[in-house]
Amino acid sequence: MHEIHLADEAAQLALGGRLAERLRAPFVLYLQGDLGCGKTTLTRGLLRGLGHQGAVRSPTYTLIEPYTLATTQLYHLDLYRLTDPEELDYLGLRDLLEIPAIWVIEWPECGAGALPPPDLRLQLEHRTDGRCLRPVATTEAGLALARVLYE
Ligand code: ADP
Ligand code: MG
Repeated sequence: MHEIHLADEAAQLALGGRLAERLRAPFVLYLQGDLGCGKTTLTRGLLRGLGHQGAVRSPTYTLIEPYTLATTQLYHLDLYRLTDPEELDYLGLRDLLEIPAIWVIEWPECGAGALPPPDLRLQLEHRTDGRCLRPVATTEAGLALARVLYE
């Protein structure tokens, strides 16, 4: 699937909003890319699209931030500071995974082996004029959601 250009923060938020329109639990979304490439911004747009009205902070130190939304439970993870994937057990991840939810995971590479496999990976990169995004779908649900990005 070809690259999508996101000119500014507003575009990044809007793309999250479009994903929210079709996103249904259970779903695992990996957000990959360097620091500052817009992973949390995209998540913010997604959460707003799902009706969340409060703040969306990066769970850089807490690792996980749960959101109880009108239609679903969503867990936002940022594993940048995780040193050992086994630490995820202490967060009670195993129990949380038993209930269908939406998982949005920044820095999934850091949790390799202890995370559910993704339905869709969004690979983000810096560009001189904003950011770019490339989707990699790994399930039918992931492919269906990725298609929304090109509509
Ligand atoms: P990450 O979570 O990947 O580290 P953030 O979402 O925190 O990145 O974004 C880092 C900065 O980049 C923020 O100041 C944000 O406003 C800005 N930003 C996000 N998306 C874009 C974009 N498409 N173009 C330009 N700046 C952006
Ligand atoms: Mg972030």
